[in-house]
Amino acid sequence: MNLDFVAGKTFETIDPRTGETIARVSEGDKEDIDLAVGAARRAFDHGPWPRLPGAARAKIMHKFADLIDQHIEELATLDTLNAGKLFSWGKAVDIPSVANTLRYFAGAADKIHGQVLKMSRELHAYTLLEPIGVVGLIIPWNFPSTMFFVKVAPSLAAGCTMVVKPAEQTPLSALFFAHLAREAGIPDGVMNVVVGYGATAGAAISAHMDVDKVSFTGSTEVGRKVMQAAALSNLKPVSLELGGKSPVLIFDDADVDKAVDLALLAIFYNKGEVCAAGSRVFVQEGIYDEFVKKLAVKAKEWTVGDPLDPTTRVGPQVNKTQFERVLSYIEHGKREGATLLTGGKPAAETGFYIQPTVFTDVKEDMMISRDEIFGPVMALMKFKTIEEGIKYANNTKYGLASGIVTKSLDIANTVSRSIKAGVVWINCYHGFDIDCPFGGYKMSGFGKDFGMEALHKYLQTKAVVTPIYNSPW
Ligand code: NAD
Repeated sequence: MNLDFVAGKTFETIDPRTGETIARVSEGDKEDIDLAVGAARRAFDHGPWPRLPGAARAKIMHKFADLIDQHIEELATLDTLNAGKLFSWGKAVDIPSVANTLRYFAGAADKIHGQVLKMSRELHAYTLLEPIGVVGLIIPWNFPSTMFFVKVAPSLAAGCTMVVKPAEQTPLSALFFAHLAREAGIPDGVMNVVVGYGATAGAAISAHMDVDKVSFTGSTEVGRKVMQAAALSNLKPVSLELGGKSPVLIFDDADVDKAVDLALLAIFYNKGEVCAAGSRVFVQEGIYDEFVKKLAVKAKEWTVGDPLDPTTRVGPQVNKTQFERVLSYIEHGKREGATLLTGGKPAAETGFYIQPTVFTDVKEDMMISRDEIFGPVMALMKFKTIEEGIKYANNTKYGLASGIVTKSLDIANTVSRSIKAGVVWINCYHGFDIDCPFGGYKMSGFGKDFGMEALHKYLQTKAVVTPIYNSPW
């Protein structure tokens, strides 16, 4: 494992609880991506990994998962110190889930097979599902461990080799995973982790002539650049998991207390730094006033504080840039005439803490209703009819997630079929599961992470055709 990159440069990584530097990390550049892609290429073309029986790859992946289980506390601590994520949640959910992500895809590694085809002529034909090759995996900072494995685990199962670029803000858990991969017995060259900036290391992956596919999670703006670079280089396929501005529709027949809790979870979970955050909440007019009153009270239960403290529900934003960006959106909201119901200010003298914030009287054309803020800021609006609710929900360039709160099966069925989003959560929110495909409609991207669909992103189909009766064609 080589921790020094070619140019010998390093950059700081910070603790968002204090803004202080916790480590200096080697900075990878285009030359390092070239070396990593070269290693991955050799491992793919000549190494054992793609040629191993699926069960043998699975065995190593299970060992990798077991090693993660043995280091849950350290890994959860790294994501807390580096990304401001709640330690209690990381320990109970995030890190155990990444081990399970490896096990889920390990279970598929020996079940990758094609089909025998019924041809219309005297030909025998079948399909082979082959690993797509060297894959570039570019990941964001909001779920450093989860995002790492929703891409790495299906790539490993498929038999691909890979270059992974974690977000520059949160490199620490990814480096730990690289260390554990080696201990698990993943052969050299199969999983290469290069820490570096997006404009240099990230761009070098998407433009690389020897990378066969890029799987990207991040902003819509950068997703566009990745796709453009892929088109201008070797036309590699890309899959994009991008931003969102997801709606939550709460109908008159909802239990108001439960609906308030759901709406708060939808936006304040992981301090709003969730691509699927329910950042636009639409409440039907019959319960609107009661909803707002209860929301103002219950929002205060979302206590802000040190993410190492088990009583904290909202930690700091990931860094100063994000902290300032969220506060500037809050100022926009005030200037545009929305009413601040709760929050709206930094929540501590030091660190990047922001009070959970709710705006009412939001209009559809306001920036806080249109742009992805990626912080703890809810835009609350009122609607009259089901049709109006659907229209508001779909009035966005994004289409990642959505939520519906109702007791009526008719409403749930009608609305879930009308919303243009990759997932509809009915009477729940953030109902993620490794078996449930997740990915966007519209400008939230294409290609699913999670579920068996994710595995197929890293495979390609080859048709093999042969005459049945030895005819010349
Ligand atoms: P970002 O787009 O700034 O960065 C994401 C990754 O891309 C990072 O690793 C970054 O270094 C890299 N990158 C930046 N510029 C690049 C370039 N020119 N070429 C190649 N790579 C480049 O996003 P972010 O700020 O890290 O994450 C927040 C965004 O990610 C939000 O928009 C959020 O909605 C989205 N996100 C989406 C999902 C999803 O599943 N749909 C999940 C998490 C986050």
